[in-house]
Amino acid sequence: MTAVVETRDLTVRYAGATALDGVDLTVHDHEMVALIGANGAGKSTLVKALSGLLRPDSGTITVDGRLAQVPEGREMFGDLTVDDNLRLGGWRNGRGGRDTTAIYDLLPDLAGIRTRRAGALSGGQQQMVAIGRALMARPDVLVVDELSLGLAPLIVTTLVGHLRALNTGRGLAVLLIEQNARLALDLCDRAYVLEAGRIALHGRAADLARDPRVAAAYLGGH
Ligand code: ATP
Repeated sequence: MTAVVETRDLTVRYAGATALDGVDLTVHDHEMVALIGANGAGKSTLVKALSGLLRPDSGTITVDGRLAQVPEGREMFGDLTVDDNLRLGGWRNGRGGRDTTAIYDLLPDLAGIRTRRAGALSGGQQQMVAIGRALMARPDVLVVDELSLGLAPLIVTTLVGHLRALNTGRGLAVLLIEQNARLALDLCDRAYVLEAGRIALHGRAADLARDPRVAAAYLGGH
């Protein structure tokens, strides 16, 4: 198995506070990996470091292939259409104006709303646009930050189905950064638990879901 994303001993500090402390995390090709953790555990810091917005204080980040991100909060251009938002995804990734047809094939729900203003869409539709926009880069690995935040469970199930299909059908590797631990552990092959900037636990998602420490802290004790 080839690693598409690998961090080794990754450490990030903000004026005084250590947000990430020696994080070792690997995503192999074709793999779906979850990173779960409470508020303030360091998840956003890891996303920023992976996307180059933050420079690590020490340690390394290796990305083999193209990495695209579905950002927390979706970050739509609300006045532009769905189609234009997708095009801008291509532009941001150095592929300006590339044909959006392939995205509508992958995510048919978007085809029917391609001329709608992104700002007028529901949260679930916007999240779908954000996924489509990231796919414009033809990534090898997708970093999805808080997919489920603020969305109804049924909508989350639909989005998760699309991610799974992209993973099994296209071999797209996914790193899912989630506060919803149950969702993440159900969906992913492996998982990492981030606590106060350190990887407290990692392993097969199914094993972690049965681990009493995970259940007590992240699954509501069940
Ligand atoms: P959340 O889910 O609330 O976004 P998180 O797991 O993403 O939490 P981070 O935002 O990465 O956590 O924060 C990790 C730690 O670093 C926290 O203690 C936070 O207070 C601190 N921190 C984050 N950003 C900064 C900053 N710009 N300056 C100083 N401290 C920061």
